[in-house]
Amino acid sequence: MTIAHDTFYVGGTRRNPVSTGRITVTSPNSGQVLGSVPDGAPGDIDAAVAAARAAFDDPTGWSQWAPSKRAEAMERLADALDERAPQLVQAVSSQNGMPVAVAAQLEAAFPQLLLRYYAGLGREMSFDENRPGLLGGSTLVSRVPVGVVGAIVPWNFPQALAAFKYAPALAAGCTLVIKPSPETVFDSYVLADAVDEAGIPPGVINIVPGGRELGAYLVAHPDIDKVAFTGSTAAGRNIAEVCGRMLRPVTLELGGKSAAIILDDAALDLSRIGEQLFGATLLNNGQACYLGTRVLAPKARYAEVVDVFTGLAASLTVGDSLDQATQIGPMVSEKQRERVESYIAKGRGDGARITTGGGRPRGFEAGWFVEPTVFADVDNSCAIAQEEIFGPVLSVIAYDGDDEAVRIANDSDYGLGGSVWTADHDRGVALARRIRSGTVGINGYLPDPTAPFGGVKASGLGRELGPEALSAYLAPKSIYL
Ligand code: NAD
Repeated sequence: MTIAHDTFYVGGTRRNPVSTGRITVTSPNSGQVLGSVPDGAPGDIDAAVAAARAAFDDPTGWSQWAPSKRAEAMERLADALDERAPQLVQAVSSQNGMPVAVAAQLEAAFPQLLLRYYAGLGREMSFDENRPGLLGGSTLVSRVPVGVVGAIVPWNFPQALAAFKYAPALAAGCTLVIKPSPETVFDSYVLADAVDEAGIPPGVINIVPGGRELGAYLVAHPDIDKVAFTGSTAAGRNIAEVCGRMLRPVTLELGGKSAAIILDDAALDLSRIGEQLFGATLLNNGQACYLGTRVLAPKARYAEVVDVFTGLAASLTVGDSLDQATQIGPMVSEKQRERVESYIAKGRGDGARITTGGGRPRGFEAGWFVEPTVFADVDNSCAIAQEEIFGPVLSVIAYDGDDEAVRIANDSDYGLGGSVWTADHDRGVALARRIRSGTVGINGYLPDPTAPFGGVKASGLGRELGPEALSAYLAPKSIYL
């Protein structure tokens, strides 16, 4: 049985679309049609923005509520999402190929963690400060919500990355129009049900799925006050140009090509650190922005590091994303598999040596599967080391001494994630400080809600998560007394 939705969640109701087009979603596991939803048209975004604007401007509405009252509503939303966790896991995994074990943690639990965290921050924060002046008077410095937020999310973590935006935005008192990616739409209807049940006032959260033109229309909409975007660097540059011209605040979480630096003293016993290595380099079928897909190995231990990653990749269970045992599911689409395979061909062409994988796994011919693949003898200037592949493909690059490791790690257009693997914590932290990226893990990589997350260089502008993200949805306002 296929899934079919006929409305959008706008202004607290299921609204009939202006659009007559439909988005059809295909299973990455089988290539079969899963169902369809309306494809948003500009008129649908107009209605959603108008609803968000009316909710924001309501003199007794969300933006004017006491932070503690907003926090209670956010906690109700977290509870409503908890109740729908199995539906969220099923919806996300069936659409984008994320293994259910990963989806359970990141797509059906992380949003609730964020909602409860930002509810707490909102409660604790003093939005008003009375500041004694130097000229006799004083100033009421108030932190006010920036307004209506256009939130654009990609398909790889559709629920978590939406929550990265709506959780701090809601705590700040903003209202939102969320545009999910066309690859992952069904889960957004589960979110809409939860928003409804939680009693979030009409118009505070509106959801209109659609493609890139619809995203561009939302970004440039005259009634949007801030844009929060996660996606590719190419789209991020376009959005930055528009927001620059419109002088519109924007947060951009873009691509990555991070380094996992194995230091010469690292303990590489797969039975002990296999899970951490997997999480830092191959999670979500290699379709995560921060993954350390460039493995930097000390020359003296090069063969050993290649063996460890070859063993790791070869040991992974490839399979249907809805199977509990699966560690590597399919690529999100046929197009994405073509992209990954074209990079594997480029790697071969550039003389890199495949130590495991490189093809399609047997027995899964119907879906968009690629074998977990490791390349040895990779030069950092090669396309597979410089460009974001977004698939389960690792490149092992040799270095000589810590300074060269840092130089190679920083020889990238990107600067989002990274990791350092060492037996010496202080040495790891000292090296992490020298890597030009927004985040680095020591002996693992696990983004935490309390810590700012984001990139430098072509990986983006601004930060999500942590108190820093709450500030990004607030603007200081001085009332001289
Ligand atoms: P994408 O840029 O093609 O699309 C992302 C979203 O933006 C989709 O909703 C799409 O419809 C919309 N969009 C595309 N072009 C747009 C435009 N010009 N204006 C407005 N909206 C537009 O990216 P994708 O292929 O769906 O996602 C994968 C990319 O996202 C990778 O590059 C990955 O690294 C990046 N990503 C980054 C982070 C991070 O936090 N830095 C997290 C996850 C994914």
